Amino acid sequence: MSPVCGLAVAVGPRTTGAPRLTVDLAAVARNTQTLAERASGELMAVVKADGFGHGAVDVARTALAHGATRLGVTSLAEAFALRDAGLVVPVLSWLNPVDADFPAAAVRDVEVAVPSRAHLAAVAAAPGRHRIHLHVDAGMARDGAEPGEWGALCRAARRAEQRGQVEVVGVMGHLGCADDPADGCNARGRTRFAWAVEVARAAGLRPRHRHLAATAATLTDPRAHHTMSRVGAGLVGIDPSGTTALEPAMTLTAPLVQVRRVRAGTAVGYGHVHRTTRATYLGLLPLGYADGLPRVASDRAEVLVRGVRRPLVGRISMDQVVVDLGASGAEAGETVTVFGPGRDGEPTVAEWAAWAGTIEHEVVTGIGARVPRATRAAAHLRSLA
Ligand SMILES: *Cc1c(COP(=O)(O)O)cnc(C)c1O
Repeated sequence: MSPVCGLAVAVGPRTTGAPRLTVDLAAVARNTQTLAERASGELMAVVKADGFGHGAVDVARTALAHGATRLGVTSLAEAFALRDAGLVVPVLSWLNPVDADFPAAAVRDVEVAVPSRAHLAAVAAAPGRHRIHLHVDAGMARDGAEPGEWGALCRAARRAEQRGQVEVVGVMGHLGCADDPADGCNARGRTRFAWAVEVARAAGLRPRHRHLAATAATLTDPRAHHTMSRVGAGLVGIDPSGTTALEPAMTLTAPLVQVRRVRAGTAVGYGHVHRTTRATYLGLLPLGYADGLPRVASDRAEVLVRGVRRPLVGRISMDQVVVDLGASGAEAGETVTVFGPGRDGEPTVAEWAAWAGTIEHEVVTGIGARVPRATRAAAHLRSLA
């Protein structure tokens, strides 16, 4: 029975019974093609943080089938997981402590970035011949070697190469302001990177791969492309530069587990931070901040119910949140869309990021492990098209 008008009707989208995060790999496929067309060089698919929360192996396979030639991750553990899944393409891991398992990296044919002489010593001392990328800090005081240490790092790497311990196959850097192409920080980063490559050559190194651009610079600045782009966000539909229409790949849905009718003036949730201003129906969603709904978006965010935007009201709890369904209500069991590509009017990840005062990356990587995942395969969708 409809809680509103008393008519028994078949309403709303189908019931799924549980929250669900659906990843559309066809979107990843098309985003990869767009990025591969823009990149002057090779495309490395960056699938760190479980493919930005979309499933590292799924995103990796899809990207490799649509223009990417290599994979990149932060930790060795992430790289080994790709090998465990049977992926045999080159994989680069660029953020590891000096005591990381570099012997295993050689055994499993994982390339590592080397940001310091201490790292170089650790890698060179590990058995095996290691393919390495020297990592220069292109001006964000984060990872990579400082300019003052770069020359010595290059010379030490050349000596290790001559001893047969390493092969320097790449030089890498990263831009700190590429989401704003007009920022002068980009030109300084490009200049420092070009200098770093020259210093490496002068030390006798011949790095085949020279890579500086991530998604934003791949889409906006060919001068940063060099021989390879490392793209992560763009694969899953996030364009930090705001210049290119990429396709969001995630849809988060949840069923209404309860619906109640309340009077005007009803206080909702912890702290009573929200009070209804009229009689209305309240629905309960089994998703909270433990599932990645940012608590700071409380009383601001919206969801899509029966094709209409409805506000979340009261504090987002750890496991649940209340939606104001309005006078027309909805049935327990109906599926609500929390976010998606936006094609049917549902909120997007970009809107959730704005409600939370953050970036889309944080929303997509923050979806909790207890939310069941489903994947729509790229090939399947192509065959339907
Ligand atoms: C995450 C990361 C990337 C990918 O950046 P996107 O903006 O997500 O494309 C590239 N390089 C490094 C060093 C990174 O940490």
